[in-house]
Amino acid sequence: MTTTFNPANAIQDTLVFGEFGGVNPSITDSSTYTFLSPETMEDAFEHEMEGCFLYSRHWNPTNRHLAQALANMENTEAAQVTASGMSAIASVLLQLCTSGERIVSSRTVYGGTYALLHNFLPRLSIETDFVDITDLATVESAITDRTRVLYAETVSNPLLEVADVPRLAELARAHGLTLVIDNTFMPLSLSPARLGADVVVHSMTKFINGHSDTVAGAICTSKDLVNRLTDVTTGATMLFGPVLDSLRAAGILKNLHTLHIRVKQHSENAQVFAQQLSDWGFKVHYPGLVDHPQHELMKEMMHPAYGFGGMLAVDFREFDAAQRLMKVMQEEEVGYLAVSLGYFKTLFSAPGHSTSSEIPPDQQAKMGLSDSLVRFSVGLDDDIGRTLERMHESLRRVGLLP
Ligand code: PLP
Repeated sequence: MTTTFNPANAIQDTLVFGEFGGVNPSITDSSTYTFLSPETMEDAFEHEMEGCFLYSRHWNPTNRHLAQALANMENTEAAQVTASGMSAIASVLLQLCTSGERIVSSRTVYGGTYALLHNFLPRLSIETDFVDITDLATVESAITDRTRVLYAETVSNPLLEVADVPRLAELARAHGLTLVIDNTFMPLSLSPARLGADVVVHSMTKFINGHSDTVAGAICTSKDLVNRLTDVTTGATMLFGPVLDSLRAAGILKNLHTLHIRVKQHSENAQVFAQQLSDWGFKVHYPGLVDHPQHELMKEMMHPAYGFGGMLAVDFREFDAAQRLMKVMQEEEVGYLAVSLGYFKTLFSAPGHSTSSEIPPDQQAKMGLSDSLVRFSVGLDDDIGRTLERMHESLRRVGLLP
């Protein structure tokens, strides 16, 4: 299905030089741009002019370079970069839906996305039907004639459920919906647009940037939708203005060029970590494990060279034990007790009480998110065996292993 396309090659083939032949493009240090005549300025307002910049909230050269590299990575016609993952998601949904229209969304999505859909968008009369995204019959039965968007994460936060993107794309096409896929957990491993998604969003705060020093987002989609988003009179990114600072965009573009190495190492470490925790008798959610319900589906959709990703979740059976364990894992230097993901150190947190706390407890219970679940973003550790020794000691100290 995706055998000939290599997303890392697509990034590497995006060549941009600095204005003096620098190996990195020059960083835009201007919010506004001069015009040689008022007529050209008027033209720039009315329609896009190749290589012509108007105002940095609209577009600037650095953000354009990064957007082009991301479009190439996701194999979409175009892309737009934003100041956060949430602004990418909110801008797309507000561009696609208007008052009275509906969204069908996976019920297991990042807590901020859930809060946007569940708490905020209803204020604008945009309602969401939350479904089990792995049950396609339920997904289809939730679609009404007012539904405009089908929304899912390729691999969900925090339960690591895998969305069947090709079949969701078929459903979307059959009902005239736009399929929006959040690929934050799976850059390079999955190419949702090649599997039929219309829009791919990312929190670049995570793996893409990879250094936990920047908050940023991306929207990879058709040229038409990017033009609509950036339209000076009707575009959501233009009018809400979540512009990514060009200095940050330049940093992300450089980090994007090491993404393939990092993703492979994250995936390799996570696979070993998941297998060991499973062998120690814990319930582990990781799509790379053969007992994961969508393991085979993931294998069909993925670029195998990049592995099953760096994210996993482990159920430590009791709330108190999980709480104590996180403290001890930090003391034993397994990693840091912190939200977010895609950092070079292992990060862990209990999603029910942090990144998914926006989801009401009854919904958490329904989706299988227990309060003893700990989510790990496995780091780039050179010696994962040493990390597992530390993990073993942590589990022993809290009484979860003898
Ligand atoms: N999507 C997913 C899957 C996430 O995990 C997050 C943040 O954790 C976001 C979107 C939001 O991204 P940001 O924090 O960059 O706004």
